[in-house]
Amino acid sequence: MRRGKVYLVGAGPGHPELLTLKAAQLLKTCDVVVYDRLIQEEVLALAKPSAERIYMGKPLGRHDSRQDEIHEILVAKAREGKTVVRLKGGDPFVFGRGGEEAEYLAEHDVPFEVIPGVSSALAAPMSAGIAVTHRANASSVSIVTGHEAKEDASRLDWAALAKMDTLVFLMGVKNCGKIAARLIQHGRDPQTPAAMVQMAFWHDEHVVTGTLQTIEARVKEAGIAPPATLVIGETVRLHDKLKRSDRDLRRRPDETHRFDPAPVPDQLFRIAVGGMGSEVLGFGLECRLFDRLEDGREARSLAADFGWDAQAAGEILESLVSLGLLEKSGDGYRNLELASRYLRADSPQSLRPMLLEQARQCAVWEDLQTYATRGPGGHLPEDACHAEACESLARFAAPAVVDKLNLPESSSVLLLGWGGAAYKSAVSNRWPGIRFEHHNPFEAGGADLKSGAVIPSPGPYGAVILSGLLASCGPGEVRRVLEEASGVLEAGGRLVLHDSFLPTGALPPPEVVLGTLARRTARGSCRGWSLERLRSTLEALGFDHPVTSAMPAGAVLVQALPAARAVPAAAGRTV
Ligand code: SAH
Repeated sequence: MRRGKVYLVGAGPGHPELLTLKAAQLLKTCDVVVYDRLIQEEVLALAKPSAERIYMGKPLGRHDSRQDEIHEILVAKAREGKTVVRLKGGDPFVFGRGGEEAEYLAEHDVPFEVIPGVSSALAAPMSAGIAVTHRANASSVSIVTGHEAKEDASRLDWAALAKMDTLVFLMGVKNCGKIAARLIQHGRDPQTPAAMVQMAFWHDEHVVTGTLQTIEARVKEAGIAPPATLVIGETVRLHDKLKRSDRDLRRRPDETHRFDPAPVPDQLFRIAVGGMGSEVLGFGLECRLFDRLEDGREARSLAADFGWDAQAAGEILESLVSLGLLEKSGDGYRNLELASRYLRADSPQSLRPMLLEQARQCAVWEDLQTYATRGPGGHLPEDACHAEACESLARFAAPAVVDKLNLPESSSVLLLGWGGAAYKSAVSNRWPGIRFEHHNPFEAGGADLKSGAVIPSPGPYGAVILSGLLASCGPGEVRRVLEEASGVLEAGGRLVLHDSFLPTGALPPPEVVLGTLARRTARGSCRGWSLERLRSTLEALGFDHPVTSAMPAGAVLVQALPAARAVPAAAGRTV
């Protein structure tokens, strides 16, 4: 097996143009990205669509570490033979625990390499026009953690720090007052200039200045929240002179600067459904859902708060996970960075009123409200539009899906779902004379699904292709169909799922997922099938490591082989 490797990569202070070329190149080629808070989406967008993105940040204000979990993921993914980019804000070895990660990898004999990044310790002052060294007044600079100001057993030598020309404190928002007090207590002039730089190089960068004496009050007044960097020293005076430097980097890249443009069908698709994107978000904002999700909450307990149906609550939360707004750990859901910072009503940086107003202007979510209170209403109603949509997507995708199929020539193929004719011709083009069977249990309102007549013959088959399964099934049905399909696979046979709108968090474009989910959820049958959820369902059925690839028009292809132990003895041909 290919040997995996972990790259501990510095992502810089957030702006994609401040990545190193090496970081960008690794992102474009890696199999897995493990990232934290404070990574801008433009940076993540550099990774190829099929790369697995694992978010390991913790919600704002939480201090319990997920470090052990991170270590285990890095080692596990590398041992699967994958190239893993562990993306860290700033420089990997400037705070942020990159050193520990490297040690762990070394101890576990996992190949690794560290790629430096632009540290916020230097970039945040710079962004505010502050040169941390200056011929006139700063010949030394110290980079210090702000976490230790409160502890009496602090390892920091405050008397020595008080004598440094420039001091840069990271993680110093909370203890800003204590830091200033300690320095004054150790002899630093209370009139020494100080600046706090919040979210340097992000579009909402904010700088406040003062002196050691006043900085705490200024920071509080301005509602500065982490991440922010505190700079202290005479050189801070430069801010007034240089703050007006007109830098491109402060602007967020606009459409013309977009990194990897989406393929054309995706763009069309985006245009076709973009307007519906507001529903789920508007609904969540209106009921202040995100305010309750700073700590992990279970769907059931949230449903009780709101008087919702528990299953519907679960589906709505899953949809928000798929969109990259929430994360799920165990049974609990909690805010990701984006939601925590901008969607909560009680966050200092809240954009809730504006977003809600926008959403109201382009969407209504009464259906969703009804769904939340009454719960899923059973099966999809017979709907010619839905059937035609599934059919056209399957027709569009069949050649590409079949092209990616890996099948021994002596096998046979069963297609369950949409696109029969297109799949038949693609399969027989590629493997002339192969046995191909087709049944669509999802058409005509899914009567066959209800009666249990899903599989036309006992097989065994080398591949069962499920086309449009997630888009067409009601609650409880997906798992049952997967179970039946895996029962007719020959030894070594594979399940192949091609689905429209299967949200992965990164694919397809979020507003597509959002719109589609809103529509399907409102119909009372949608399941917010995230890739994660599909993966755990497949694993429960004895499939290991499903492989995912991005397909055009917002679809995703998943191929899964049964784990070795789960292959039924001597059933059918051995591959
Ligand atoms: N390895 C990182 C630092 C991690 S510690 C680096 O080299 O930049 C996290 C601290 O970095 C935050 O508390 C804050 O003090 C600082 N920080 C990170 N991003 C920042 C930004 N965009 N603007 C200002 N400070 C930032």
